[in-house]
Amino acid sequence: MEKHKNLQSYNTFGINVVAENFATFDTVESLQELLKSPVYTSAKKDSILILGGGSNILFTKNVEGLVLYNQIKGMQVIHEDEHHAFVKVGAGEHWHDFVLFCLTHSLAGAENLALIPGSVGASPMQNIGAYGAEIKDIFYSLEAVDRDTYSIVTFSNNDCAFGYRESVFKNKYKNQFIITNVVYKMNKKPTFNVEYGAIKQELSKMGVQELSINAIAQAVINIRTQKLPNPAEIGNAGSFFKNPEISSEQFSTLKKEFSNIVGYDLRNGNVKLAAGWLIEACGWKGYRKADAGCHALQALVLVNYGHATGLEIQHLSEEIIASVLAKFSVKLEREVNIF
Ligand code: FAD
Ligand code: NAP
Repeated sequence: MEKHKNLQSYNTFGINVVAENFATFDTVESLQELLKSPVYTSAKKDSILILGGGSNILFTKNVEGLVLYNQIKGMQVIHEDEHHAFVKVGAGEHWHDFVLFCLTHSLAGAENLALIPGSVGASPMQNIGAYGAEIKDIFYSLEAVDRDTYSIVTFSNNDCAFGYRESVFKNKYKNQFIITNVVYKMNKKPTFNVEYGAIKQELSKMGVQELSINAIAQAVINIRTQKLPNPAEIGNAGSFFKNPEISSEQFSTLKKEFSNIVGYDLRNGNVKLAAGWLIEACGWKGYRKADAGCHALQALVLVNYGHATGLEIQHLSEEIIASVLAKFSVKLEREVNIF
């Protein structure tokens, strides 16, 4: 157990805050021991944070209770059938290392999700997604420790109630479970998904003649590296807001006034708006106040140029939400977890 631990290098926003207590666990047993310790049982539940890679968190204050830092490792194929391989992965593994494992073992399904920062344990939290893929498509099950009873509970894909950047762990079971491992059901035969964004363009730029999961992953890596700010250089947590879903009627009304507005039809009949477009249309792209800003290449990403506080970034996000609401009557929701 460490005292007064600085968390600046443990969150990709690079916010300078301190944890009163900081403990690392690398097995389920060591986690269960920590949950029984006085420093855990005496802290208020909302002053305890389960931390992975810190790439989806905005710290607005010090952690007065305890940070539990997940370092459970391990990656192995635990079962195979004709079409699938089931890979069990420790929650403390880096997500991208798992993607690389799949590429090395010719297992398909994670290639569009290459280079997403963070841990495997956080991947089900918001059903991470990119380039037309989401983990719900390859997720089989997970194990998690109940924070009150210390027991291990298994969740199937259905139990997780995955939605767009959503799961049961952000809603019904918020702050209730600590995910310790995830089993992914990977495909032995790939179904290529290159319809999204700039993947096709990038593949042709790369001179790819024959599609493969390696080529797709490399295309995604290339696009992401060019487009997104690297947290090692400029603090950020990826998309700060979710893309809002509105009715097709509301979309038609907006389209009459804003002919360039970007929306994608959803299977349920609604329309998903590109939040980045809305924010840019309100004039925020490239905006900077002190060290808090809206990224110049991708308006959906809020950034810390060095010494911004979490409250300054949160305040900027509130101004953005208010201006988008005033102009488009659409309320943006944050994707990033505020602590
Ligand atoms: P953390 O930030 O450490 O935690 C996030 C939340 O999950 C917290 O509430 C935390 O308490 C909880 N949590 C973490 N681990 C556990 C656990 N084991 N058990 C229970 N609760 C836990 N996201 C996407 O979906 N798609 C993208 O394409 C994408 N691109 C990104 C690009 C950049 C440059 C950055 C910085 C972020 C991006 N993100 C993206 C967001 C982020 O990478 C993901 O949400 C990632 O899954 C967060 O993982 P983490 O380990 O860093 O989580
Ligand atoms: P982009 O390709 O410029 O597209 C802008 C937005 O339009 C995206 O948010 C995406 O929605 C949507 N979109 C694009 N093509 C689409 C299609 N064919 N069908 C439906 N929706 C479509 O976006 P980008 O910023 O460069 O990001 C590329 C991908 O990486 C996106 O999937 C994005 O979600 C993901 N990403 C996520 C984060 C994060 O922190 N969550 C950070 C960086 C990138 P979706 O977001 O719903 O896919």
